[in-house]
Amino acid sequence: MIVASEILKKHQLRNTEIRRQVLSIFIELGDTALSSQEIEEKFDKIDRVTLYRVLKNFEEKGIIHVAIDGSNKTRYAMCSDNCTTHHHHDQHAHFHCQKCDTTTCMDMINVPAVRIPKDYVLEDAQLVLTGICKNCI
Ligand SMILES: [Zn+2]
Ligand SMILES: [Zn+2]
Ligand SMILES: [Zn+2]
Repeated sequence: MIVASEILKKHQLRNTEIRRQVLSIFIELGDTALSSQEIEEKFDKIDRVTLYRVLKNFEEKGIIHVAIDGSNKTRYAMCSDNCTTHHHHDQHAHFHCQKCDTTTCMDMINVPAVRIPKDYVLEDAQLVLTGICKNCI
């Protein structure tokens, strides 16, 4: 069982209540990605700016990653264990459900290797899948 405070310690982050609460939401959701607004809705009251900072900080530290899903929302999801500060290794597909607007990390599907023209430098590639999720079928 992963505990939020252990992750904070591992990434040398001070154990504050807000960090612990936000991280616990991500741990609980596992593969599901959430926008800051969706996280906000899980709290009775949370300062938007503080939440935004927590998310940015977690992303920088390699705790959560941006799950590009083709929607206009920025969503975040838990990273794999081997992500570190400024080094993300979340090269998996993201599935966006057109019915319930949920985004899921698909760890089992890797972004395929592509060959690009030799005068280009590839720095990032995303694989976005859209369709109907298992809860909506
Ligand atoms: Zn990551
Ligand atoms: Zn769905
Ligand atoms: Zn992901």
